[in-house]
Amino acid sequence: MPKQDVMDRTTGFLKKNLETMPHKKRIEYLNQKLRGIIQYAYKYSIAFKSKMDSVGLKPKDIQTIKDLEKISITEKTDLMKLQKKNPPFGGFEGVPMNKLRRIFISPGPIYEPGEVDYDELGWAQGMYAGGFRPGDIVINTFSYHMVPFALQMVDNSLHRIGCVIIPTGIGNTEQQVNILREFKAVGFCGTPSFLLNIAEKAEEMGLDLKKDITLRVGFVAAEMLPESLRSKLEEKFGMIIRQTYGTADIQCLGYECMEKNGMHVPDDKIVEIMDPETGKQLGPGKMGEIVATTFNRTYPLIRFGTGDLSILTDTPCPCGRTSPRLLKILGRVDQATKVRGLFVHPGQVNEVVSKHPQVGNYQVAITRKEHKDEMTLRIELKEEVSQPEKLKEEIERSVRDVMKVRGEVQFVPKGSIPEGSRKIEDHRTWE
Ligand SMILES: [Zn+2]
Repeated sequence: MPKQDVMDRTTGFLKKNLETMPHKKRIEYLNQKLRGIIQYAYKYSIAFKSKMDSVGLKPKDIQTIKDLEKISITEKTDLMKLQKKNPPFGGFEGVPMNKLRRIFISPGPIYEPGEVDYDELGWAQGMYAGGFRPGDIVINTFSYHMVPFALQMVDNSLHRIGCVIIPTGIGNTEQQVNILREFKAVGFCGTPSFLLNIAEKAEEMGLDLKKDITLRVGFVAAEMLPESLRSKLEEKFGMIIRQTYGTADIQCLGYECMEKNGMHVPDDKIVEIMDPETGKQLGPGKMGEIVATTFNRTYPLIRFGTGDLSILTDTPCPCGRTSPRLLKILGRVDQATKVRGLFVHPGQVNEVVSKHPQVGNYQVAITRKEHKDEMTLRIELKEEVSQPEKLKEEIERSVRDVMKVRGEVQFVPKGSIPEGSRKIEDHRTWE
């Protein structure tokens, strides 16, 4: 249970008019913002203009989100190549270099232009939805050096809400614990694993995490957040933890609300789920690559391919926000395989298996018979079960639910699946 709190952290909106727009109005709003950024980027970003010109597109050809399909994806590797060819930003920047406030350097190396007047909305929306409120004292434990996340994105977004920031950066766990106590800080920004470090250190120092530490809200990113870790940390500290998703180039692309049922797309981004093979948009409920467009004029990336796989849903969220949600991040595009037109990913296979404790080793085999894909989940059971047929049916149902593709379950003798083998083995030949 969260600690007693006089402040309402679980309802309300940062930008109610944007966050609760009816669907049709939202589409109109996004289309209008899209036309604006396309005009702008065509005029000021050399890389975007040459991309459009090379296929004979003009800004007027892009009127709606659907029209984005005409523009090819810019993947991170393209960005790196173009940055080498045309340093430092590959011509993607939307303002001259001497007008920037900062220049950031991410691993790669890959360079990001930092804006003078930071007006990104997504992270702040996520913090507010996660329970951060004006006047909160917050430690920001993301790294402040070189990379843009802690300094430009998290710091500015906390300031936008009206929080008081202690820029602790990463490391010095004991000192972080002392700072939390000294200032009675209520907010944590950082990775889930670092919050766990803090918990362990505080316990080692003989502190009671619920009484001596006043943390109430946590905004975590940059790592996977397993539900088991979330509930462990929430329980230990008596706090609310919500996660967010984005990249250094294109910023926030999703944030959780109190419902924890996926990540709302912020109102200053367009997120498409795309078939990585055709470049076409996939509808709700289908797995594909997350491709995003920002309205940021300093760094106007249009159709940026994140390389991450997810599913978009537009079913209404009880929190009242009307934006679509990214269901969890399912893995990387380059690990996925297509079966009967749908992508399947090792992460999904793990999810299926996690529902059935009887399963030991396992592997998915994709084969092709009479020009049709077949998927078989081969399973070594930990021990004999009394009703194998029933278990087989149950697992097949989980496969359908999680992977959205029918697959047959086959129990194989122990030792049939070599240790360390790939979770998805593609046996198809294309002749
Ligand atoms: Zn919601």
